[in-house]
Amino acid sequence: MTKSGDTLQQLIDQAKQQQMFLEMFVRSWVDDYRSGGGTVFCGKGCSNCCRLAVHTGFAEALAVARVLDEERGRAVETYAAKLRDLVRGVAELPQYLRLHRDEMGGCPLLNGEGACSVYPVRPLTCRSLISTRDSAWCGADFSKVAPQEREAFLAGLDRKVVSFPSHYVAVLQDSGKELEEAGAQQMGSLLDFSLYGNLGVLVQLCRAHDLAGAALQGRGEAERVIAEAGFDHPLLVTVS
Ligand code: SF4
Repeated sequence: MTKSGDTLQQLIDQAKQQQMFLEMFVRSWVDDYRSGGGTVFCGKGCSNCCRLAVHTGFAEALAVARVLDEERGRAVETYAAKLRDLVRGVAELPQYLRLHRDEMGGCPLLNGEGACSVYPVRPLTCRSLISTRDSAWCGADFSKVAPQEREAFLAGLDRKVVSFPSHYVAVLQDSGKELEEAGAQQMGSLLDFSLYGNLGVLVQLCRAHDLAGAALQGRGEAERVIAEAGFDHPLLVTVS
């Protein structure tokens, strides 16, 4: 197959289908859970989980990059540059996640009102995070929570439902991961390699460095563009 803009559109369309599938699954799961007396705390206006590091496949990031306005584009540029500097010398995932939560502020795609500016194309990772506890726990730094409070939180979790020790619904997170895997395989079959990484970084690479054009030329060119922009860090972008 000739690799062209059609290939990119195909990847974006597949990602969209996967997002719609997950959306339906989440809605139906939440309805059933609530019917059975369970409580889900996610709702409009809450963005506490948007302080966490979001990682996605390439197609989902490209879809976001294509709908960004100038203001959000500048926010993404600032975010990506700050994160690039922050992770220098960081090799471990827990340290990266802690630094991200403490230093990066919210997702650069949040608008001035604290709402997701790309809600219709938000990635699987965001869609699959469904909270069974008050949203204050979504942004909590557990190292700063008193031991008794932490124990009470853990004891209150429904281990049949959550991805223990988190309070997020396991089956929905697992489904999001499986769909991401499928997306990576689709990219692999169309372009012979796949890309996965921090959402803001991938969006910045697509917007300012034409990562999509480079990807069409092959893995080597994509890797060159990522390295030239200074994002060749395994915690930021992986090529496989
Ligand atoms: S993409 Fe949207 S939903 Fe996801 S973390 Fe960013 S602002 Fe939140």
